[in-house]
Order: sequence, then C-alpha cells, then structure tokens
Amino acid sequence: MNDIERNLQDIQISIPKDVTLVAVSKTKPVNELMKAYEAGQRVFGENKIQEMVEKWETMPKDISWHMIGHVQTNKVKYMAQFVDLIHAVDSIKLLKEINKQAKKHNRTIHCLLQIKIAEEESKFGLTEEDAIALLDSEEVKNLTNIHIQGLMGMATFTNDENQIKTEFEKIKTFFDQNTSKYPELRVLSIGMSGDYKIAIDCGSTMVRIGSSIFGARD
Ligand SMILES: *Cc1c(COP(=O)(O)O)cnc(C)c1O
Repeated sequence: MNDIERNLQDIQISIPKDVTLVAVSKTKPVNELMKAYEAGQRVFGENKIQEMVEKWETMPKDISWHMIGHVQTNKVKYMAQFVDLIHAVDSIKLLKEINKQAKKHNRTIHCLLQIKIAEEESKFGLTEEDAIALLDSEEVKNLTNIHIQGLMGMATFTNDENQIKTEFEKIKTFFDQNTSKYPELRVLSIGMSGDYKIAIDCGSTMVRIGSSIFGARD
C-alpha cells in the first residue's frame, strides 16, 4: 500500500460516511492523483482553472472535478464543459457567467456560496446579508443552468481551535437558519487538513483535504 492510499484510508475512517471527501490535489502531479484514483477516490479539488483543465484532459472521465479557488469571470469558459461543483462563488456577476457557459454545454453546474467567516481580513466571500440578497434575487432565480447547492467557508489560519470552532459554528448556524427557506441548500463545505475534525463536529457535509492526503506542498 502506498502513502496516498494509506492516508486516504486513515481519513475515510475518521469521517462519517455521509461526509464527502474532496481530495485537494492542487500543485500535485497526475501520477499522484492517479494513486488516489486507484484507491477509489473520485472527487478532486483544484484551485487553478488551467491546472484543473490539464488534469481533466489526461485523467479518467468518471472524476468529479471541484473548483475550490477564487474564480475570475473570464476563465469560467475553460472549465464549463466538465466542472461539477464551484465552491467559492461570491457574486451575481460570476453566477451569471457560470450559467451562460453551462448553457453552451447544455449542462447544470453546481455552485456553493462562499461565506466570509474568518475574523482575519479576507478578500473573498459574501456576508450573510449579501448571501440572502443573492438567494432572493429574481435574477438568480431565473438562471436555469446553475444550481446553488450550499455554502462554503474557510476559517482563520490559526492554531487557536476555539476560534476555528466559533467560526465554523457561525456558518453552521447560518446554514441551519436558511435550509427551510432554501431547501436546495444541502452542502456545507467546511474543513481542511488542519481543521476538518472540528468542522465535522460543527456539521460539515464536505471536507476539502489536501496535504493530509498528498503530503505538504512546496
Ligand atoms: C488548498 C486548499 C484546501 C486544502 O488545504 P490542506 O490544508 O492542504 O488540506 C482546502 N480548501 C481550499 C479553498 C484550498 O485552497
């Protein structure tokens, strides 16, 4: 058994069956992704569109590709043919472009709204108020080729587990407050290598794990 296979197995036994594991493979070469694939992993997350396109072109076609990084509107077209879930949507403008490009390929692209939860200053993500405004907007409701499936958040980069827990609890509370009004919200994407156990305790349904599977990145 190789390291990647062993790491995957260790993670799988530590997360509940109904939590989706996204193997974050950014910067890693295809041969390492293939080790995870051969161990049964089918969901991969990348943060750069060009890199994801190159991997998609060479790898088996039954992989679900997730874009977990910030997306520039003018690059959506390169991944519209195959991307399954875009985690970090934070504007109506981006949603409209995703919809337009998805339509060209006769597809539906799943999206998550990135919510700003970190205490530290972060450039990306919606406030809770902005997320509600987006979900309520007629313009968004009329987009036929996107499906907003849930929320995504990133905690502050810190060793303070209490702070991380507070931030994850905040997005979980917001998620729970809105799932009855917006039943399409089913996914809560929180948790990375350093904090996924806290995230699962806080109700995560999808964890994005890179270095604990593939090793540290350069
Ligand atoms: C890189 C990245 C991850 C995975 O980080 P690890 O600490 O290696 O698990 C998760 N989410 C996002 C948005 C990332 O950019």
